[in-house]
Amino acid sequence: MVELESGRQLRVEKIREGTVIDHITSGTALAVLRILNISGREGFIVSILMNVPSKKLGKKDIVKIEGREISPKEVAEIALVAPKATINIIRDFKVIKKEQVKLPSIVKDIIRCPNQRCITNSQEPVKQLFYVENEDPVVLRCHYCSVLIEKDEIIKQFYRE
Ligand code: ZN
Repeated sequence: MVELESGRQLRVEKIREGTVIDHITSGTALAVLRILNISGREGFIVSILMNVPSKKLGKKDIVKIEGREISPKEVAEIALVAPKATINIIRDFKVIKKEQVKLPSIVKDIIRCPNQRCITNSQEPVKQLFYVENEDPVVLRCHYCSVLIEKDEIIKQFYRE
């Protein structure tokens, strides 16, 4: 149930089995689906709510996915674009697990360094490694060349894959 400003409530069908990702930064729901590789052609029921009123965030997005759970790697990736998101695992219409996404202090092997001269973009066998400079909005700093990457660049990378 989503509380609207006027006191009206927006009724969203409960799901039987699957995942509800709540408190997604408003306008980021589609990037979250991209991270999860969900295009809509897989056949799951997917509900997307965007820019709904939220007491905590002002505005938020919500994604509900029937019949699909989320891996720890995907949780870390979601934290990069929606640092306040909560992941609710649903079984038999009940929330059996609720988890706040958490950005690790070091981000390894998820994001590429945008600096073409960075050693990670050469032929050297060096893994991508970033430090989290800021959590919300996310800013990452490359361990090797110190270049900073912001949220828009991070989102772009998920769309390129
Ligand atoms: Zn770099």
